[in-house]
Amino acid sequence: MACDVTVIGGGAAGLVAAITAAEAGASVVVLERELACGRSILATGNGRCNFANVHLDPRRLNDPAFVEAVCGPHWLDDVLAFFRQSGLRWCIEGDRLYPMSRQASSVRNVLLTRARRAGVVLAPARELRSISWMGPERLGELGPATHWDPSRSEMLPAGMAEVAHTTPDGNPEPPLSPCSRTVILASGGAPLPRLGDLGLAVTRRVPVLCPLACEPSPLIELDGRRAHVQARLTKAGSPLPSWHERGEVLFRSYGISGILAFDLSRRAGEGDLVELDLLPDLGRAEVRQLADPLAGGNFEPGCLDGVLDPLIARLLERLARESWHVGWPGRDLAPTCAEALVALAKTLPLLVVGTTETDRAQVTRGGLANGQFDPKTLACHAHPWLFACGEALDVDGDCGGYNLGWAWKSGMVAGAAAARWALS
Ligand SMILES: Cc1cc2nc3c(=O)[nH]c(=O)nc-3n(C[C@H](O)[C@H](O)[C@H](O)COP(=O)(O)OP(=O)(O)OC[C@H]3O[C@@H](n4cnc5c(N)ncnc54)[C@H](O)[C@@H]3O)c2cc1C
Repeated sequence: MACDVTVIGGGAAGLVAAITAAEAGASVVVLERELACGRSILATGNGRCNFANVHLDPRRLNDPAFVEAVCGPHWLDDVLAFFRQSGLRWCIEGDRLYPMSRQASSVRNVLLTRARRAGVVLAPARELRSISWMGPERLGELGPATHWDPSRSEMLPAGMAEVAHTTPDGNPEPPLSPCSRTVILASGGAPLPRLGDLGLAVTRRVPVLCPLACEPSPLIELDGRRAHVQARLTKAGSPLPSWHERGEVLFRSYGISGILAFDLSRRAGEGDLVELDLLPDLGRAEVRQLADPLAGGNFEPGCLDGVLDPLIARLLERLARESWHVGWPGRDLAPTCAEALVALAKTLPLLVVGTTETDRAQVTRGGLANGQFDPKTLACHAHPWLFACGEALDVDGDCGGYNLGWAWKSGMVAGAAAARWALS
């Protein structure tokens, strides 16, 4: 089996890369280790697939310069044009885009249908173990892919995939070893296949977009409660906050979860301070007025029940009376109980221990070091037949459609360039 383009991984980026390459005239095979392609898409956005964001801003991803160079000035337009052409229609919630059906399977299905229509060979249940390069001197020996002779597989010049394959009932099948003029690595956050002596640099992989574990504190009592907050992150040793965002947090026994905490997990480390403004729509003076209308220095129980979840308000009242953490290092002690309550409601402190539940993290930071790839084509500088896209590269973004936005667009870039290279 030989082809112009072999895509390793039939997830979000791989399917778009395969479609783009096939529609440009290349013969394309997708090797997917799962029993079906596109499964990773089904779990996204709680099954609804938040597939893009109206503000696809490279600054919401790490390495913004690289992301900007890959995605260009019309990133969102390109993604939407691709999906419109695939038959998908969408709706907008806040700044997030979802399929009109609110079903992730709509996104996956339009991709699979378009891939089949373009003639892509989808090969699920095939895990790529390694890629080897046969040497440029043999380049001329490769005839048109359709005339490839399996007995000459060792002569083929470009990526050669060793594929181990077993059927779902455990029966071994003959190994499938496609030889290909080009290879696109789209294996997501999974461990990369063996890259032999290709000498590629891989940055350390760390799960991100997961909950934050915080130092044990009385907030443990809020396990399961949600609040709309403005969060502010101050890195350990820094006098000033480095990041803030508004959204919902879910208090857990170990710390905080929810989309806001996930975004924090991309930025916060051990020893960093997260402060939650539990009343971001009210100024301090207004909260003080609610807590202590007569400015006597004390507050009445229930004074914040009209603006806060009463269960949270009750805990804050108790902590205010105990002066818990109101005197965080570097802060003045609140002079009165009412001031302490206001301070807790406006700047509830949490000391970060690290990330947690990382096995369920949405994205992996790290991967193939971006500097090795030409951002215009996503071809490897050292091996121009090798391309990468999606999470296999060292790119990760905030929640809100940035990660899939990156997967789609980088897949388009790599697919188009791989087809050009293979057919030239
Ligand atoms: C629970 C969850 C919810 C998410 N929700 C959102 C969301 O709403 N919006 C958003 O923007 N992002 C979301 N993400 C992140 C998003 O899913 C990823 O950023 C995106 O799927 C990355 O695309 P990819 O193609 O690079 O990797 P993937 O989609 O993970 O695809 C990689 C594919 O490669 C296959 N593979 C790996 N190794 C091999 C191998 N050696 N041989 C063959 N196949 C291999 C894998 O099985 C997989 O199918 C979510 C992630 C999770 C886990």
